[in-house]
Amino acid sequence: MVTEIDEEKNDVNSICPICGGPVKRGCIYGSDRNALRWLAGEPSLLKNIRAGAGGGEIIGESPLLSGSHIKGIRCETCKRIIIET
Ligand SMILES: [Zn+2]
Repeated sequence: MVTEIDEEKNDVNSICPICGGPVKRGCIYGSDRNALRWLAGEPSLLKNIRAGAGGGEIIGESPLLSGSHIKGIRCETCKRIIIET
């Protein structure tokens, strides 16, 4: 059985491709059951409304039990997050 502590261990096979620091596996979670969506460019209210109305490209997963999320790794040094689409 995987515990929460085990899930937070460093991914020994991965290092940050930007700074070479250690990374941890994790997920970014959405606040509702709709899929997370990608729209290119700078953030805007109009794009946020479009995403909420079903626009943009669906990324990540939205299974019923765990809700909207996207898996990735986060660098402990530079704090960047690399997502797995
Ligand atoms: Zn880094």
